[in-house]
Amino acid sequence: MKKILIFLGPPGCGKGTQAKKVSAKYNYGHISTGDLLRALANDPAADPEDKKLLEEMKAGRLVSDSLIYKLAFKEIEKYLLVGQGVVLDGAIRSVPQAEKYQEFFKSKNFENEVLALEISLTDEESFNRLTKRRMCKRCGAIIPYLPVTKDLSECPDCGGVLVIRADDDPAIISKRIEEQGNKTLGPIVEYYKKLGILKTVDGMLDIAGVESQINKILC
Ligand code: AMP
Repeated sequence: MKKILIFLGPPGCGKGTQAKKVSAKYNYGHISTGDLLRALANDPAADPEDKKLLEEMKAGRLVSDSLIYKLAFKEIEKYLLVGQGVVLDGAIRSVPQAEKYQEFFKSKNFENEVLALEISLTDEESFNRLTKRRMCKRCGAIIPYLPVTKDLSECPDCGGVLVIRADDDPAIISKRIEEQGNKTLGPIVEYYKKLGILKTVDGMLDIAGVESQINKILC
């Protein structure tokens, strides 16, 4: 199995959920740039200049490439150095980023160890899912499709309080889909297709259905 698994897909396609499952099953490092950025936002000791760059995230836009590379490459290297694979979750969101990551993998002699996994989903379904999901304040788990009437309840994993993620506000969701949905994703998917390292699974299926498709690809 390839050592570097890149999960691609529009917001709400289930990248995070599936990336966590794969990393647990194969003992791969799970690297979510969204999680790394949220950790940075909550770190009182973080560089204030880096924190300033997070304003873009609050508005639903992409944060600067330099910050992404700084956070992600260090994490990736940590796992590769000890022989562990990595699952990249939302870490690549533009063609220039895809190119830069490939350069990085090449510099580490890992360019033949890359597989891109696209979880496809329409922008409409993306919007529906994001407006309905909740996040656990304590462990960060994303809880899909919670009925909106049950606004706040407990996380099934740790019992923490469920909240609406700051950038899951409908206006910000629309912005994210515009910037990070299928219009942006298309050229990235094409990039990996041309390299011959792309696999696609149907994100309209339920969590178990997507998982089983991914398992078939990885086995
Ligand atoms: P996520 O948790 O993956 O939905 O990411 C949350 C937010 O973090 C995104 O809406 C972006 O603002 C930012 N972000 C995460 N990954 C990247 C990336 N690779 N490039 C630029 N911005 C990113």
